[in-house]
Amino acid sequence: MHPFTLERPRDLSAALAFRAQAGRNDAAAEYIAGGTDMIQLLQEDVRKPERLVSLAGVLDDGIDIGPQGLRLGASATMAEVAAHPGVVEQFPVISEALFASASPQVRNQATMGGNVLQRTRCPYFRDVGYAACNKRSPGSGCAAIGGENRWNAVFGTSDNCIAAHASDLAVALVALDASVEIRSATGQRIVPFADFHRLPGDTPHIETVLEPGEVIAAITVPAHPVARRSHYLKLRDRASFEFALVSAAVALDIDGDRIREARVALGGVGTKPWRVPKVEAALAGAGLDPEVLRKAAAHAVEGAQGRGGNTFKIELMQRAIVRAVETAGGRA
Ligand SMILES: Cc1cc2nc3c(=O)[nH]c(=O)nc-3n(C[C@H](O)[C@H](O)[C@H](O)COP(=O)(O)OP(=O)(O)OC[C@H]3O[C@@H](n4cnc5c(N)ncnc54)[C@H](O)[C@@H]3O)c2cc1C
Ligand code: SF4
Repeated sequence: MHPFTLERPRDLSAALAFRAQAGRNDAAAEYIAGGTDMIQLLQEDVRKPERLVSLAGVLDDGIDIGPQGLRLGASATMAEVAAHPGVVEQFPVISEALFASASPQVRNQATMGGNVLQRTRCPYFRDVGYAACNKRSPGSGCAAIGGENRWNAVFGTSDNCIAAHASDLAVALVALDASVEIRSATGQRIVPFADFHRLPGDTPHIETVLEPGEVIAAITVPAHPVARRSHYLKLRDRASFEFALVSAAVALDIDGDRIREARVALGGVGTKPWRVPKVEAALAGAGLDPEVLRKAAAHAVEGAQGRGGNTFKIELMQRAIVRAVETAGGRA
């Protein structure tokens, strides 16, 4: 581990003054919240910031539900949000995505802000023994494209990076049209969650729209009829303590036995949380007949590019959508 200075600011304005930045491997200063991802990256020399700025105690940790929807303070933990009775009842897809993530110990420590900013699980990014990783060392190449890419993305990729976004929570948030409240020394801005993460393009080392000195202060989810009848399905190599190969977040508004409106997002397959609007359009007005659902799910594959080791995800994602819609549709 490279030496660094740990700053413990007394309040948010002191923390913002350090102008640290998340999600960039060339940032000289980074924030740290629960530390469950950051400590690993430091230990493995993937990140070598000169300065770490602790966000402990300086950000909101509230979980509030009102007529406008849900507001999650950036410091609320995964465990607190997953088990919150209002989230369980009114936003089940969020609770389920969190309970399907990591382990109880990690969930007790990890925060909302840190969760959506966690770095990819691409094995070449995490192992500095491999020189070629554009995300870790810009311009060095991409070992995953011609290498082991079972974990990597089939959507939103570029010739420079095919890393999948790892957060389960982020998939649920993009399905529910969440927004990110970003705070800096000069004020606040709100960014739709769907626009928060960037596609890799030719700068895969820049993962979000955050500028130096900006932090996530909160995540908001609007009230909407689809939220209550929602479900998160995660498919992985083992039943717990494992990242998604493919996941589906589905939220439905149902009128009798017909789907009035559907939201569908996929995890494990995109370089960012991946919404599939053509599937949503095909589901609108449909019944829950398996054959109809299968045809609607087939729209998900448009634009998918398998690289050998991850090509199986293209079939698997369609099956995941069908099963998740059936489960959400069966809910009262
Ligand atoms: C063994 C293990 C298994 C896991 N399995 C899963 C899984 O199945 N599914 C899943 O989704 N996740 C999984 N995770 C990842 C876990 O969810 C993240 O490590 C955790 O959510 C990160 O939160 P944190 O508060 O600890 O962030 P930290 O590690 O403190 O920070 C992560 C990043 O976020 C930045 N940051 C944190 N908060 C803010 C903020 N408010 N504003 C700006 N920048 C900020 C930091 O600078 C850093 O870049 C797993 C982790 C471990 C260790
Ligand atoms: S996919 Fe991205 S993170 Fe993985 S090796 Fe290639 S550049 Fe690095």
